[in-house]
Amino acid sequence: MLWSFFILLFSMFPQEDKYTAARERMVKDHIQSKGIHNKKVLSALRAVPRHKLVPESQRENAYLDRPLPIGAGQTISQPFIVAFMSQLIEPKKSMRVLEIGTGSGFQAAVLAEMVDQVYTIEIIHSLGEKAKADLEELGYDNIHVRIGDGYAGWPEEAPFDAIIVTAAPDRLPQPLLDQLAEGGKMVVPIGPINQIQELTLIEKKNGKIKTRNVAPVRFVPFTRDTL
Ligand code: SAH
Repeated sequence: MLWSFFILLFSMFPQEDKYTAARERMVKDHIQSKGIHNKKVLSALRAVPRHKLVPESQRENAYLDRPLPIGAGQTISQPFIVAFMSQLIEPKKSMRVLEIGTGSGFQAAVLAEMVDQVYTIEIIHSLGEKAKADLEELGYDNIHVRIGDGYAGWPEEAPFDAIIVTAAPDRLPQPLLDQLAEGGKMVVPIGPINQIQELTLIEKKNGKIKTRNVAPVRFVPFTRDTL
């Protein structure tokens, strides 16, 4: 029994080393060199084992700077975009953050490395359940996953210091804006389905809303639960 445990342990390590090295390379070549300078974001990207959050068939591609299919017709954003959106909210240890579109759980895990609590909502049941199980297995006890339509946000836990939306609505969902704390920041890709959308940074300051387009992007559509 015991010896088989050790054999298993030893045979696992070279694999993990391989992934750690690939992750380091990804951060250096595709994140840092492309203008992400926030130290918290860089160390979060170095810490999260993306290969454990993508489907088995995509493991070898986990540290390429590419979006990857995660099942149910959805994709996980490329690591650079995750880093870019994370940097825009200026993460701090004290923050409570809402994410809409859990998907694989990767963005949630990156946030959980940097902030206090992460609340994340996924509309596709199978994806939400899978992410929940994977994140639990990775030991993230500050991520709360809910399955449902994220349009209404998570009123019981509002307000949030930051909100990150990882699917593209055609206009800003009002409930999310209402649940943004004073001084809070929201990042959301806004635009038509399957076309170029504008990654938009919204800030609530002294009760006023400031909006800035930061980059053209392409996200999966923000769908609605019409049941
Ligand atoms: N943040 C994810 C990206 C997943 S892609 C990650 O790191 O892997 C965007 C996700 O948003 C998809 O899984 C999609 O099902 C989900 N989504 C789309 N519309 C939604 C809505 N109204 N509420 C919650 N999730 C939604």
